[in-house]
Amino acid sequence: MANLVTDTKDPQSVLMQYFGYSSFRQGQEEIIDKLLSGQDILAIMPTGAGKSLCYQVPALVMDGITLVISPLVSLMKDQVNALTAQGIRGAYLNRSLTDKQFDKALSNMSKGIYKIIYVAPERLTSQRFMDAVKQINISMIAVDEAHCVSQWGQDFRPGYLNIAQFIADLPKRPVVGAFTATATSKVKQDIIHLLRLNNPYEVTTGFDRPNLFFSVFRAYDKQQRLKSLVTANKNKSGIVYCSTRKKVEEVCDYLCELGFSATRYHAGLLDEERRQNQDDFVYDRKRIMVATNAFGMGIDKSDVRFVIHHNMPKNLESYYQEAGRAGRDGEYAECTLLWDDDDIRICRYFISHMERNEELTDEQFEIFKQKEYERLDRMIAYCKTRGCLRSFMLRYFGDDSKAKCKMCSNCLTIQYRPTSSTRIQAKPETKSRFKEPVSALAITPISKSDNALYNALLVVRLMIAKKRGVPAYVIFSEKSLREMCEKLPVSEKEFLQISGVTQTKLDRYGEKFMRVIREHIAKKAAKVNEKGKAYSDDEIRESGLTGA
Ligand code: ADP
Ligand code: MG
Repeated sequence: MANLVTDTKDPQSVLMQYFGYSSFRQGQEEIIDKLLSGQDILAIMPTGAGKSLCYQVPALVMDGITLVISPLVSLMKDQVNALTAQGIRGAYLNRSLTDKQFDKALSNMSKGIYKIIYVAPERLTSQRFMDAVKQINISMIAVDEAHCVSQWGQDFRPGYLNIAQFIADLPKRPVVGAFTATATSKVKQDIIHLLRLNNPYEVTTGFDRPNLFFSVFRAYDKQQRLKSLVTANKNKSGIVYCSTRKKVEEVCDYLCELGFSATRYHAGLLDEERRQNQDDFVYDRKRIMVATNAFGMGIDKSDVRFVIHHNMPKNLESYYQEAGRAGRDGEYAECTLLWDDDDIRICRYFISHMERNEELTDEQFEIFKQKEYERLDRMIAYCKTRGCLRSFMLRYFGDDSKAKCKMCSNCLTIQYRPTSSTRIQAKPETKSRFKEPVSALAITPISKSDNALYNALLVVRLMIAKKRGVPAYVIFSEKSLREMCEKLPVSEKEFLQISGVTQTKLDRYGEKFMRVIREHIAKKAAKVNEKGKAYSDDEIRESGLTGA
């Protein structure tokens, strides 16, 4: 790595040098600047907005070590793997480590080997950890999924209540950043008070996820509809959410029988199997995850291309959170909701049979239930609206929004074709900025980069990922691969221009990708010479170019 860029320490160069991105997204720069100036922050940004970068960049700019408190073991491992692949020294401390590994990590930490350390909240009360931490310079504490501190939210984690005391026990108080995607005003107050944030600067970016295509179908035959949706997204990663374990089993079996690569996840499986299935999905050994809502938090897989709800969730908060797991890389992705009258009945049943939480009085519980019914009504209204789906949701979450988004099934002119009952033809009213076809709706244009070269690059990526034992998206995102197909970089300088390419990644993987790109160009040129015209992408695909 002789030609490593000089070690400049401003956020912009860190962004370029370590992450390969040329510009910050909305909210990021502001948050980073505040943290660097020593002010606590509370950031509320939707899934996929890029919250991790908001603490990873300042962590690299600051002198000491950053502790990231994160609720999920699997998430920590993935994030640390991703950092390592980017040449950043990180570690995680959680219950998945043996005592010996824990000691080793602590001793490395004391030696200053790591820049970023992910810690499970339960570890904060460990005396050994506290002793080790007192020896080192902690410059920042980032609390990820900060809403877990609040009992008002659905993901309450008692361990999060240890955080404030832990910080208070440190020799010097580091700057603290709290990050979450979901926070009602009650949860927000809890975060500020229970984490004892010090006059935090608040950043709330809009809830919109412009790259997500939303559609809703009242499905009279869910299996048939599911089959066509999944077929339209063949070979892409996707999640199918079902309301019950039984449904998960049924749908997973159905998809497997049809020959799709599917696995399942719900609370009724043994820990070991759940972990295995989750890994299969994250590492692309299985393309489709059929799951209850137990699956998802802490899944950072950025290339999920579709999320299908086989059943209507009980409110829009849950729906938006689950659907939002699609397309975190900012590339086009589809979120489809299938519903029928049974779903409504089942949701009503669930609410009427809810058990009273010990902490609520009867009266409070009645009010709570009433609220649940109201939220369900909004969910049903979403299913039935003829207006723009995106605007409906954004208004629900309190964002302003345009009347029409042109990226949802209601904003497209849909013509039913009586001859084939399941197929729908839809045409966007205007060209959206996303090139991928709305495949489930059978819109005709095919993306240019969906060609032989792209597939060949996918193969290279998969081979590198396998060898390194990391998920494929950690090597390069699909967005980066697509850009390679468009720009055809063949020199180091050109390769560095691709979004997501850093010097480290160039050094490690660049040549393997460029070799395939050069072969592709040479093959194309040969065809031109032979025939006097360029072949179409289809013809090239048929020619059997596989690259790797
Ligand atoms: P969140 O935690 O808010 O859900 P993540 O931190 O997981 O989101 O980021 C989602 C994706 O966006 C990741 O793949 C990340 O690399 C990418 N990303 C974040 N910031 C930028 C940026 N400034 N430019 C390009 N991609 C970015
Ligand atoms: Mg996150």
